[in-house]
Amino acid sequence: MKNIAVLGSTGTIGKMTLDVIRAYDKRLNVTALAANKNFELLGEQIQQFLPDRAVLLNAESCTKLKQVSETEIICGPSGLAELASSSSFDILVVAMTGTVALDAVLSALHGGKRVALATKEILVGFGQFVTEALREGNGEILPVDSEHNALHQCLEGRDFKTVKRLILTASGGPFLDKDYRGAAPSDVLAHPTWNMGSRITVDSATLMNKGFEVIEAHFLFGASPDMIDVVVHPHSVIHSLVEFKDASVLAQLAFPDMRLPIAYALLYPERGTDVVQNLDLTKIGSLEFSRPDFERFPCLRLAYQTLRKGGTAPAVLQAADYEAVGQFLSGKLSFERIGEMVASAIEAHSFISKPTIPQIREAERFAYEFIKQGV
Ligand code: MG
Repeated sequence: MKNIAVLGSTGTIGKMTLDVIRAYDKRLNVTALAANKNFELLGEQIQQFLPDRAVLLNAESCTKLKQVSETEIICGPSGLAELASSSSFDILVVAMTGTVALDAVLSALHGGKRVALATKEILVGFGQFVTEALREGNGEILPVDSEHNALHQCLEGRDFKTVKRLILTASGGPFLDKDYRGAAPSDVLAHPTWNMGSRITVDSATLMNKGFEVIEAHFLFGASPDMIDVVVHPHSVIHSLVEFKDASVLAQLAFPDMRLPIAYALLYPERGTDVVQNLDLTKIGSLEFSRPDFERFPCLRLAYQTLRKGGTAPAVLQAADYEAVGQFLSGKLSFERIGEMVASAIEAHSFISKPTIPQIREAERFAYEFIKQGV
C-alpha cells in the first residue's frame, strides 16, 4: 500500500488523481489533502478518503471547513511544507498552480520521497533548487505532464549517454493554421485535443506551455537546450519521443487522457490495467507532424532563450506570462501582445545568474508588477 498526499486535490489534475486512487484502492491510500480555497469540495473529499490531515490555503475557507470537519485541518500556505515534512506519505502529488508548493517539494525530495509533479512553475522557476534537492536527498520525481511522462517511459532503464535528442510533441493549439490577431478568450479556450484549465489552454495557444516543457525537460532529464526539440503533432497521440545516438527513435503513444500519466506516476514501477481507453491505430489512420513556427509563436523562442540564459530568466518568463495571461483572460490585453509583454519583462529585469530563492521571488514580483503597469 502506498500512502499519498495530494496537493491541489480540488483542481482538474487533483480530481483525476483521486479518481485513479479510487480505482486502485487496494494499492493506493490518501493520507493528506490540500487545496487553495474550495472548502466544500475539500470537505467532501475528506469524508470520502479519510486523510489524517488536510491543508487549506485560504484563511476564510479554512475557518469554515474547521467548523464542520473532524479531521486535523491546517490553515495557510505554510501548512504545505509542514504537511510535507511531518506527514506519513510515500508520494507527494503536486498539482497546485504556481510555486506555493515549492518548499513542500524540496522537503519531500530531501526526505527521500517520490514527488509526482504536475505543476510546471516549480521546475521552470526553481529548477536548480529542485535538482539540488534530488541530489542531496534520495527522492525521485515522476512527471505527471504527458510529455515528460512519455519521455520518462522511453528513457526508463537507459544510459542517458546514449541519447541524442528529446522530442516534445505539441498539439499546436487552436491557431496552428489560423490567424490569432484579435482572438478573444473564448476563441482560445476551445482547445482541439486536451481538456484543461483556462490558463494552460492559453499557454498552449501561444506555445508558451511547450516552452515551459522544454525548460522542465532540461531540469528533469539533464538534457542541454540543444538536445531538446519540439515537433507539432495535432493529434496528441504520440506524447513525446526519444532519439538515441544510433538514430533509433522510441515514442510513447496513448489515448490522450491525463489519468494515464497520473496512474503511471503513482504505481511506478508497476502499471495499472486499462487505465484509459485502448488506442485503436486503425481508427486514427494517420499521424501528422510539422515544425513549430518560432516567428508566429515567439513565446517558444523566448523559453529557449531564457533556458540558455539561466539564473532568474526562466522565473521571470513564467511570472510575466502568468500575469499577461491573466490580463488576457480578463480582456485587458490582446492575445498577440502576450509574448511581446513577456519579452519586455525579461529585457527589463535585473538579471542574476546564480540567484537565491528570495532573489527569484523578487524577480517574480518584478515581473508581475511590470506586466500590470504595462497593460
Ligand atoms: Mg503537457
